[in-house]
Amino acid sequence: MTKGCTRKCSFCSVPILEPTYKPKINTIDKFKEIKDRFGEQQNLLLMDNNVLASPQFVEIIDEIKAMGFYKGATFVEPNQFEIAIKNLKEGFNDIAFIKKCFYLLNELLTKRIKNKDKAEEFRSILDSYHLLNIKTTTKENLINSFPELNPLFEKYRDKTAKARYVDFNQGTDARYVTDELMNKMSEIPIRPLRVAFDYLGMEKQYVNAVRLAAKYDIKELSNYLLYNFKDKPEELYRRMEINIELAEELNLHIFSFPMKYIPLFGEDAKHREYVGNHWNKKYIRAIQSILNVTKGIVASGRNFFERAFGKDVNEFYEILHMPETYIVYRSLFEETGLTDIWKSEFRAIKESNFWDEVKIIIENSDFKNLEDKTKNPDILSFLKHYTITRDDVNEEDKEVEKIRKRYNNLIKKDKFVNLTLTYDFE
Ligand code: SF4
Repeated sequence: MTKGCTRKCSFCSVPILEPTYKPKINTIDKFKEIKDRFGEQQNLLLMDNNVLASPQFVEIIDEIKAMGFYKGATFVEPNQFEIAIKNLKEGFNDIAFIKKCFYLLNELLTKRIKNKDKAEEFRSILDSYHLLNIKTTTKENLINSFPELNPLFEKYRDKTAKARYVDFNQGTDARYVTDELMNKMSEIPIRPLRVAFDYLGMEKQYVNAVRLAAKYDIKELSNYLLYNFKDKPEELYRRMEINIELAEELNLHIFSFPMKYIPLFGEDAKHREYVGNHWNKKYIRAIQSILNVTKGIVASGRNFFERAFGKDVNEFYEILHMPETYIVYRSLFEETGLTDIWKSEFRAIKESNFWDEVKIIIENSDFKNLEDKTKNPDILSFLKHYTITRDDVNEEDKEVEKIRKRYNNLIKKDKFVNLTLTYDFE
């Protein structure tokens, strides 16, 4: 609906890729074209960089509503077989629409026609036109079979009404949020509302945006948390904690997506190893290890948050220093008692004269050939914790599996969450 951005944040590529801000692009014609060619779609995914900056925001929302995406709007899937045949007749992308027809017809046969006689009737029509195998499925046969197959397709296809959603996938800018704009935003079925929380300095504006969202009954929120830029680790912790507090207080679902900063130019832009001034390799690996289990998401819920990131900043820093394997397989190593041993040794060594030497080794996150790095037997003994690799873990960690399952389900249920999983959480 817009292009570019009104700001020039130094960590962002938008000002370079799209240097001119266009406050509104006519979209309704494109929307109609898509609708005519591919049929009505359930959801609307918009990739504006900063839609709230637009002085035409009200018009944009009205246009989205005119497209059929108003609060409470529902969607019934159109007859996709009919649409595919129309495209085949017009010669538009034959390969894709032959595949689509094959998939639709076979899905109807195996999943939707429960009556055995009817299923057999449908199967034998498919068979007579050689449509049971993708290799024998041809455009000509599909078009010829259409009059016979479509009445059954129409009868058994899914016609349940589903809720429609709109997602400004690139996030919105809390600094532009006003009561009036949030009220306008709430006229469309926005889910989730993504608000950027790039640095702690914008806490006031961010919290205001979340409160206004709650005021206008926008319950599903998501936010991007840039880290490894100019921020300190405790500022990442605090931003996540603010989300936990807001979700509790306002009864919202808030997903946070920590995003690691990578420079846009120079040598550091050519790899993914860049380390910000207040960060080090170990801290970054620790964050990635925690996020690995949850596919990059920090969901609402104090229990999980405190377990994953610590009850306070001190615990958070302790986790950042923890061996990676102990972080990922938390309950397993807790059960074996190794985590407690590590903790007491870590606390002791932190108070000792060796700490400066140990700190450098840990922060470099390279635990190979430790004998070359120190001759101190106490340090070597402590660093053994860091040499236990994931491959050494034979037993299944039930907690990890449980969390993985929970997040996989969550992603399966929400295609927009999935679209966001482009980050470096491994
Ligand atoms: S406001 Fe967002 S889109 Fe605009 S320059 Fe900053 S980070 Fe990029």
